[in-house]
Amino acid sequence: MSDKQDARPRLLVSRCLGFDSCRYNGQMVTSPLVEALKGHAEFVDLCPEADIGLGIPRPPVRIVVSGGRHLLVQPETGADVTGRMETYVEQALADAGAFDGVILKARSPSCGIKDVKLYASPEPGPAVGRGQGLFGGAVLARFPTAVVEDELRLQNDRIREHFLTAVYTLARWRQAELSGRSEDLYTFHARHKLLLMAYNQTALKQMGAILARQKGMERSEVVDSYHALLTSALSRMPGAGAHINVLMHALGYVSGDLSPEEKALYLDTMSQYRANILPLHALTTLMRAWAVRVHQPYLLEQMYFAPYPPALAPQVEQGRGRTYWHDRTEEAG
Ligand code: SF4
Repeated sequence: MSDKQDARPRLLVSRCLGFDSCRYNGQMVTSPLVEALKGHAEFVDLCPEADIGLGIPRPPVRIVVSGGRHLLVQPETGADVTGRMETYVEQALADAGAFDGVILKARSPSCGIKDVKLYASPEPGPAVGRGQGLFGGAVLARFPTAVVEDELRLQNDRIREHFLTAVYTLARWRQAELSGRSEDLYTFHARHKLLLMAYNQTALKQMGAILARQKGMERSEVVDSYHALLTSALSRMPGAGAHINVLMHALGYVSGDLSPEEKALYLDTMSQYRANILPLHALTTLMRAWAVRVHQPYLLEQMYFAPYPPALAPQVEQGRGRTYWHDRTEEAG
């Protein structure tokens, strides 16, 4: 299991999330994850509202539900920009090329993927429902198995973990596929067995079967079928039970080298993970340390234990790096 992470995911992102002050009020939003990803990923930034010529700053737009349609209107000017936005969406998504994941601004009438306020008219009044923005909804509809999140949901540790795992796995697949070598496809599959076991055991078996019979198939057929199964498998976050299943499976590779106390510690840590007291990292770090100690080659190759660059792991301690003890002794002096 190498810590080396060569693959850089290609991500579509709302431009106002740290790339330009393009919000309706001329401001920008800071997403801690987007900031952390700069330097570890390639971004394609889009601002649908600025890109269709609404200007920066601009009077805000809202979604008005009329005749069963969701219209994008600008109450202050009376403009209905639905047609411009729909044309833009088609062109922008066609031009964007292949991507491994999407991070959109939450609750925006253009970029939002959920919880966007819907109104009955452009006139002042309360929201009558919640839905998707015109651009965010189009991304979800066009790419139903894509890894699409908004910056607020990505503040949740489990969603962030899943997002990073999925986009880095897809980026590694793209890298293996682009090399043109069949052995790179086999290596990818071999190194992701535990990860895919957590996500979808049926898909894992089907993907293995595709690679096993690839000699009689066109390479494009192999790659496309495998990629379709991979994106589908990665589109749903695994539950705690699936991870426990994988970690019990991993235990079988090292249990002969562990003491009864170590096994008891592992099982106790597992119970605390199941009860949502400890994070998954507590278990994977234990197993990873044992794999290193006993030189277990299969486990050492598994990306399950290091699915994305360690620099992107959530910070567990606020103010890390500060010398609090030093501060205190200085104050005391
Ligand atoms: S939410 Fe989307 S449309 Fe609005 S400013 Fe951000 S990128 Fe532009």
